[in-house]
Amino acid sequence: MGPAELAALMHDWREKPFRVKQLQRWLWREPAGDFDRLTDLPQALRRKLAEHFHLKCWMPVKEQTSSDGTRKFLFQLDDGNAIETVLIPERDHSTLCLSTQVGCRMGCAFCRTARIGFKRNLTAGEMLHQILHARRVSPAELPLTNLVFMGMGEPLDNYDHLRAALGVIFDTAAFGFGHRRVTVSTVGPPDMIRRLGQDTKAALAVSMTAAEDELRSRLMPVNRRHPLADLKAALQDYPLVRGRRITIEYVLLAGVNDSPAHVKALIKFLHGLKVKINLIPFNPAPDVPFHRPEPAVVELFQEKLHAARFTVMIRRSMGADVSAACGQLAADRLEP
Ligand code: SAH
Repeated sequence: MGPAELAALMHDWREKPFRVKQLQRWLWREPAGDFDRLTDLPQALRRKLAEHFHLKCWMPVKEQTSSDGTRKFLFQLDDGNAIETVLIPERDHSTLCLSTQVGCRMGCAFCRTARIGFKRNLTAGEMLHQILHARRVSPAELPLTNLVFMGMGEPLDNYDHLRAALGVIFDTAAFGFGHRRVTVSTVGPPDMIRRLGQDTKAALAVSMTAAEDELRSRLMPVNRRHPLADLKAALQDYPLVRGRRITIEYVLLAGVNDSPAHVKALIKFLHGLKVKINLIPFNPAPDVPFHRPEPAVVELFQEKLHAARFTVMIRRSMGADVSAACGQLAADRLEP
């Protein structure tokens, strides 16, 4: 149960609202295996909870480990649907890439998740369970400190559940993640970007992939409804704490969006915005008809952005050998 479901339950049972906070702690901060351990709750409430619920813990139905140490988990949900979650080891911590929907309805031409279509939104509880599992299996020397909402689905297309999950993620009585360490990545509906900025302090990443309307609409159908000018206005207004910047993700597709003319359009679009750029050379996936540019093309693209005084990183995609890299998640292999 996420916070909204817990609040509704406590209300129905005529319990005090602060019981929600107490329960959150036992669910997410110090997960208790059984209701007897919830010692700050009255015994009658503990008994009633035990009669109606069980405290469960997710176990993946499949786990794959990449040669670079990245781990991909396949979770089966109560209704039989499946999602994937990716745990990435970094120098001194772990980063979790989590999913927000079963499938996706954004239809980006270069993304494998789009190929499986849209099944349903995840609940806040289902997002939080991914974190719980990752925290439990992260090695002590690489604690889970960073979250990126870059798995399956479009987070801002499931906004209410995302917002509820972020509440628990930032709440120091629950998970207590730092604001700088939680990034929401989106294809960029401007109205929802504005709401995210008003409601939370999460870091923002925007998937650009093209800085001209005609091309972006072809690669990312969302652009037909929300053209680049509207996106730029929303990014200009996005509230940023001092020193922080919006991440711009740009998937490089050979011969499609990787020429000097494309970089020029990108520089023009980004002019005046506080951003850092992540170039993501295309990761191949079945049925996805694009190619990764040659390294020299990627480097030239980066140099031109550098010359225009942008901070640019080339994302080293992890876990590609187990289809765990950006754009490769599909959860369509339930067999062991
Ligand atoms: N729907 C959100 C969250 C998913 S993040 C979003 O699009 O931002 C996934 C990131 O991987 C996005 O930046 C997306 O553009 C990128 N991506 C999708 N397919 C890819 C592929 N085949 N190779 C590399 N990156 C890809």
